[in-house]
Amino acid sequence: MANDTIRKCSFCGKPEDKVRTLFSAGTSHICDECVLYCYNVLAEQEGLPATKQRGKGKNSADSGITLKKPAEIKAVLDEYVIGQEEAKIALSVAVYNHYKRILSLNDDDDVEIQKSNVLLLGPTGTGKTLLAQTLARLLNVPFAIADATTLTEAGYVGDDVENVLTRLIQAADYNVEAAQNGIIYIDEIDKISRKSENVSITRDVSGEGVQQALLKIVEGCVSNVPPQGGRKHPHQEFIQIDTKNILFICGGAFEGLDSVIKKRTESSSLGFGGKVKSKEDDNNIMKRVVPHDLVKFGIVPELVGRLPVITVLDELDEDALCRILTEPKNSLIKQYTKLFKLDNIDFEITEDAKREIAKRTIEEKTGARGLRAIVEKILTKLMFEAPSDDEIVGIKITAECVRGEAEPEITRAVSSARKKK
Ligand code: ADP
Repeated sequence: MANDTIRKCSFCGKPEDKVRTLFSAGTSHICDECVLYCYNVLAEQEGLPATKQRGKGKNSADSGITLKKPAEIKAVLDEYVIGQEEAKIALSVAVYNHYKRILSLNDDDDVEIQKSNVLLLGPTGTGKTLLAQTLARLLNVPFAIADATTLTEAGYVGDDVENVLTRLIQAADYNVEAAQNGIIYIDEIDKISRKSENVSITRDVSGEGVQQALLKIVEGCVSNVPPQGGRKHPHQEFIQIDTKNILFICGGAFEGLDSVIKKRTESSSLGFGGKVKSKEDDNNIMKRVVPHDLVKFGIVPELVGRLPVITVLDELDEDALCRILTEPKNSLIKQYTKLFKLDNIDFEITEDAKREIAKRTIEEKTGARGLRAIVEKILTKLMFEAPSDDEIVGIKITAECVRGEAEPEITRAVSSARKKK
C-alpha cells in the first residue's frame, strides 16, 4: 500500500508531510513537535528554561497557550466581569476542557474528547463579548469577533463565513498554527435563525444558509481562506486552516426565546394542576432553556448540537451596574479618574450619582454598554474646559448632575494655580 511508504512520527503518528522536520534512525522517526514536547517535559523536571514558541507553535505543547485551571480562569474573569457567575464557571470549565482536549489529541487511546463550544444567551450589554475577550487575553491565544448578521453564504453580498477565519489568522499575525488553536466569538447568532420561527428578526439575512456554512467551520473542516479576506477568486493565493481545534463561543440575546420555553414548560406542567408561575419564575425562564427550544427558535439542530455548553447571562440590575462602574480592573470610573489625574484634577462621583446612572441605564435597556454614554455626556464639557483652566483641582459628580438638574461641582485652588505636569 502507498501508505506504507509514508514515514510517520513513531510518537504521535503524524505523517512526514504534516510536520516540519522528521528525524529518523532506521525505522524509528520523531517529529520536531515531539522533540520539543519532550524537551519541555525534561526542562520542567530539571528546572531548565522551556523553549520559546517556535513561530508561534504548532500544538498546545509549544504554542504558548497558558493552560490554567478552571478556578484560575474564573479568578481572572472576576477581575473584569461583574456577576455572571454561572456563565463564568461554564466558560472556565469549557475552555479548560477545550485545551485539555487539544493536549490529548495525540493520545493513543480511543477516547476523543469532543469540542466544548459555548453558547452565551443574554440581553445586550451584559458582558458576553467582554467574557470572550477576557478569556482570549488570559489564554494568550488569537481571538476574532464576528457579527453573525453580516455573514452570508459564499457567493452572496456580504461577508463570507470563511472571512471569520481570515480575521482569526490576521489576529494571529498570519501564524496559521496559532490561529488553529484560537477562539472565535460570533455575536448575534440569534439573528440568523430561520425567519419563520423567529419573532424578533428584522433583517433579511440568509438565515439557514449561513447557519449551514457556519456549521461546517464550527464542527471542524479544512478551509481555504483568502489572506486579505473579501471574495474568493480563482487566481488568488489561499491560506489553509483547519478549524477542528478552534473554540467557538456564540452569543445572542434570543429575544422571544422565553415564550418558546414558557410554551414548553406550561404545556408540560398542565397535568400537574397548572402551577401558577411567580415573577421570579418569569425572570429565570431563560435559565430553563434546553437545546430543543433553540431548534424551535430557528437554529438548525446540527448547529445546536455543536454548541454543547449553553449558559444564560443575568440581566444586570442596579447593584451590578453600580459595581461595573467602579470595580472592574479598567472600570469606567477608574478610567476617568486617571484621565483627570493626568491633568492633576481629583475626580469624585457620589454613591447616589452612581445609582442614578445605573437607573438611567436600566431605563434605556442598553445593559452596561449604556453607562459610558451617560458618563461621557456629563463630563464632555468639563473634559474640554478643565485642561485650559489651571485653577480647577477637583470635580465631583452628584445625582443632580446625572438628572441634569445641576452642573458638576468644581473645586478651585484657593491660592496657587494647579501645577501643570
Ligand atoms: P454583550 O453582552 O452585548 O456582548 P458586551 O460584553 O459588549 O455586551 O458589553 C459592553 C460593555 O459593557 C463592555 O465593554 C463592558 O465595559 C460593559 N459590561 C457589560 N457587562 C459587564 C459585566 N458583567 N461586568 C463588567 N462590565 C460589563
